[in-house]
Amino acid sequence: MAVIIDGKELAKKYRAKLKVKCDELKNKGINPKLAVIMVGNDNASQIYVKNKSKVCEEIGIIFEEYLLNENIKQDELINLIEKLNRDDSVHGILLQSPIPSNLNINEAFGKISPEKDVDGFNPVNVGKLALNQDTFVSCTPYGIMKMFESYNIDLTGKNVTIIGRSNIVGKPLIQCCLNKNATVTVCHSKTKDLNEHTKNADILIVAIGKSKFVTDDMVKDGAVVIDVGINRDENGKLTGDVDFENVEKKASYITPVPGGVGPMTIAMLMNNVIKATENAKL
Ligand code: NDP
Repeated sequence: MAVIIDGKELAKKYRAKLKVKCDELKNKGINPKLAVIMVGNDNASQIYVKNKSKVCEEIGIIFEEYLLNENIKQDELINLIEKLNRDDSVHGILLQSPIPSNLNINEAFGKISPEKDVDGFNPVNVGKLALNQDTFVSCTPYGIMKMFESYNIDLTGKNVTIIGRSNIVGKPLIQCCLNKNATVTVCHSKTKDLNEHTKNADILIVAIGKSKFVTDDMVKDGAVVIDVGINRDENGKLTGDVDFENVEKKASYITPVPGGVGPMTIAMLMNNVIKATENAKL
């Protein structure tokens, strides 16, 4: 049976450490602030943003929410981002995705000042990650790397297979794992013979968005399995992309859903806000 990587507990520890750092900043008269922009009324986004605001409150980070009408024009969105860039009281800016498809999200991410880009989506920060320079690493990959670190899972020389190549999860994960000296394979919907790649993985990271897609026959004995997916099954129950019940019997380590990658993602967002605040005061 696999060791269950307890993301909930680990995230709690990180939040406690961040609260201490936040208190120290406040004692010096510096109040870390995160500005969150949401466009339209996407249900899932509303839940994610609410969760982020709760954790900000727990740590002591000021949470400022900008709810924009779904009919907003691109230049209005950019104007808001630029206003927040100029505002010295704002340390982190987050544009919640998705936004309506008539708006250009990549242009908007590119307008967020790299110093306030706590999601790590600005091309400058993406480039710095590729060059293995200090930067804001996007929160889900960063949370996964912290899990490896905390459970003493060394990536050196390991075969890591990532399923999913999104800009927010799969692609930054490639760089994070490479920077830790792993041999990285990336799979996606056009990959031929997916099983061949998953079975070869010492570490398998799954970020697809399909309930219980990865079954035990796809996993090597003793593999580390990280499940990023957040889905609802036919009964409305939260599930990951991995068939946890069966894969757990074969893996050496596994993350549950819920209580795995999700809480670490939010903790790393908070980490990035505190880091942005500390950088700003230098
Ligand atoms: P995207 O939809 O942007 O990307 C999904 C990726 O999976 C794509 O690269 C796609 O390939 C690939 N894919 C889809 N079907 C298959 C298949 N049958 N075989 C192989 N590859 C496939 O998703 P995200 O990266 O944004 O999110 C993935 C999941 O992770 C979602 O469930 C999301 O809710 C969750 N998530 C969880 C977070 C957390 O904090 N726990 C944070 C972010 C996301 P292609 O590129 O060819 O289309």
